Amino acid sequence: PVDRSPEIQEARLKLPILAEEQVIMEAINENPIVVICGETGSGKTTQVPQFLYEAGYTSSNGIIGITEPRRVAAVSMSQRVAKEMNLSHRVVSYQIRYEGNVTDETQIKFMTDGVLLKEVQKDFLLLKYKVVIIDEAHERSMYTDILIGLLSRIVPLREKKGLPLKLIIMSATLRVEDFTENTRLFAVTPPVLQVDARQFPVTVHFNKKTPLDDYSGECFRKVCKIHRMLPSGGILVFLTGQAEVHSLCRRLRKAFPFQKNSTAGDDDDRKESVEEMRKFKKSRRRKKAATLPQINLDNYAVVPVDEGDEDRDAETDDDIAGSDVDLDLGDGDSEEEEKSDSSLPLYVLPLYSLLAPEKQAKVFRPPPPGTRLCVVATNVAETSLTIPGIKYVVDCGKVKKRFYDKITGVSSFRVTWISQASANQRAGRAGRTEPGHCYRLYSSAVFMDFEKFSAPEITKRPVEDLILQMKALNIEKVINFPFPTPPPAEALAAAEELLIALGALKEPPMTGRLKEQQAAKLSCPISPLGRVMATFPVAPRYAKMLALSRQHDCLPYTITIVSAMTVRELFEEFDRPAASEEETVKLKGKKGRLVQMQKIWAGQGSLQKLGDLMVMLGAVGACEYSGCTPKFCEENGLRYKAMLEIRRLRGQLTTAVNSVCTDAGLYVDPKMKPPTEAQATYLRQIVLAGLGDHLARRVQAEELLDDKWKNAYKTALLDDPVFIHPSSVLFKQLPEFVVYQEIVETTKLYMKGVSAVEPE
Ligand code: ADP
Ligand code: MG
Repeated sequence: PVDRSPEIQEARLKLPILAEEQVIMEAINENPIVVICGETGSGKTTQVPQFLYEAGYTSSNGIIGITEPRRVAAVSMSQRVAKEMNLSHRVVSYQIRYEGNVTDETQIKFMTDGVLLKEVQKDFLLLKYKVVIIDEAHERSMYTDILIGLLSRIVPLREKKGLPLKLIIMSATLRVEDFTENTRLFAVTPPVLQVDARQFPVTVHFNKKTPLDDYSGECFRKVCKIHRMLPSGGILVFLTGQAEVHSLCRRLRKAFPFQKNSTAGDDDDRKESVEEMRKFKKSRRRKKAATLPQINLDNYAVVPVDEGDEDRDAETDDDIAGSDVDLDLGDGDSEEEEKSDSSLPLYVLPLYSLLAPEKQAKVFRPPPPGTRLCVVATNVAETSLTIPGIKYVVDCGKVKKRFYDKITGVSSFRVTWISQASANQRAGRAGRTEPGHCYRLYSSAVFMDFEKFSAPEITKRPVEDLILQMKALNIEKVINFPFPTPPPAEALAAAEELLIALGALKEPPMTGRLKEQQAAKLSCPISPLGRVMATFPVAPRYAKMLALSRQHDCLPYTITIVSAMTVRELFEEFDRPAASEEETVKLKGKKGRLVQMQKIWAGQGSLQKLGDLMVMLGAVGACEYSGCTPKFCEENGLRYKAMLEIRRLRGQLTTAVNSVCTDAGLYVDPKMKPPTEAQATYLRQIVLAGLGDHLARRVQAEELLDDKWKNAYKTALLDDPVFIHPSSVLFKQLPEFVVYQEIVETTKLYMKGVSAVEPE
């Protein structure tokens, strides 16, 4: 019996999935595997665990586990379900890589897919669970795909043992044939249940012209128009990255300032509101003129979300009660909007995955009275989170993604067009509580050129960590694994090769014919070293470093370096475009300070040769020494959230190392001293052992064939010159041999996370 509050009860009853409870539960009772499809917001994530709980699935020997591809979703969904069920987070809990609140009493456990994959290694049959729900399967994240492959084997094994496990796969789209029509995966096709979303119609407005690059400015103008001209209702803007999100938030706050009441908000809010007041006062001194921009009635195309989809018919403008304005807003270039107008307060909130959790949570709360909510988000708002009260979506049509070269692993961030499926997901965010509107800042012709769906993650990134984990599960012939979609053969081969080089896999005999040798290479068993490496929750290259660091008391340092390399983005980014001249000066000052600190953190003598890795070590050491406060981070250009994650990962890796070497007796020392000169030398060897395939040699003056090789390095895999990134402390020193954490391609191929090494 669940004791829900009347408000929650009422909100639940509005969800269409509630009417399907019986059908869903019958299907689950009668089938070991069930697929549930339903639009984002239909209630899958919050309600299905509750159905199972109420049907008694947790009462005897086993709990309900739910996996999410994103940490944000695991945390916020566990909180929401606990609240709906009126249960403590001791019972409805979450576990993500760095933290969790799981207890002995936990009955419903939300976790990231990576966490469950690690659990399979410890307990292949997942005996602790009575039900496993794989959520957001449509996102096709790499770990989700692998879990589905593994569970396809675990479910029958549990059946045989007489301890049946239920598997529920949930997807926001109907595109599930990679799971259902794949007989290697599921010999018996699982039933697919469709939950009708009570999706209100969303009118889609395409731009006639597609802005060439300034989609951010176009977003700004569109939000201004919506806010000035259209009836109440929240606005959700999709942009591609954190810097863009912040800069649009600033512009919008400036254009539509509001005075927060003094009781609301933390320190940060106060600071923001002081700033807003200051800007507001300044703006009042100027002439206040807010004339409505002229609308061009012929300027836009209007097309329903899914052409030909009867469920989501195009709605006509007069469906909107009390609306007497044209909802087709036009792509005006009017400058009017830049003028501040405090009579129309807009409550602007950023949302992206690196944002501090308490700030992320703000988007779920109602905006202050008399204001309109405007959330400026990256892709995180596309499917995993439902923001209440959104009526207007502004979609720039782009997404920032990391692209990898399949063989070399060289990566680059690129802003690309989204898929049609994503565009429709984004539009759907507008129709949750009433009919809505989606403004696409691109033309319908451009939309027609989008790919239909984005490719599964597993086909697009290096897979060495995945292969190591699979080998640790004794899956030797990875090629025979029932992947929903297999990774490309060359990515598999590159991964096995790397793992053999690191010593994680047993090398195949070099006898026999070439063909046999190659085949053997693709089915090497794991080595004892590989087993140890697989217990560390970090990339294989870093795991190798940990495995070597028992010597000369290097472990605390390696753990710290590996944690910092895994968390990434330790330092604040000051190269972003500034909103004002004043800010430009401020950013420059902060950057100068950071560069100065990095020199200090890099240390002296042979410590310096460790390069960027020593900077990471020094930064973490200094930060912890000072108690790891937000103030210290702010003053020294460190990202506070990253520092907290590094602290947690250090704790976790320390525990993992202690459990492998029981006599190591390691602990996380907040007053860690810098390494000695000798230790720094050992550390460089350890780093070389892990990053051996990331070795680069400086091209000598006498070898210079071409100017493009000036100050360049040569690597084994790439024909093109690579360079030390300007942000590296070794940028000017140009050591003869270096290893790098990664190569990122921007204007050139740049090495990041660089250390000097002396190869044998
Ligand atoms: P799905 O998993 O199908 O996308 P959810 O179960 O996440 O749907 O959400 C169902 C409904 O619950 C949403 O439409 C929203 O109205 C409500 N909801 C979800 N999370 C919250 C929250 N944190 N605060 C308020 N309402 C929420
Ligand atoms: Mg969901």
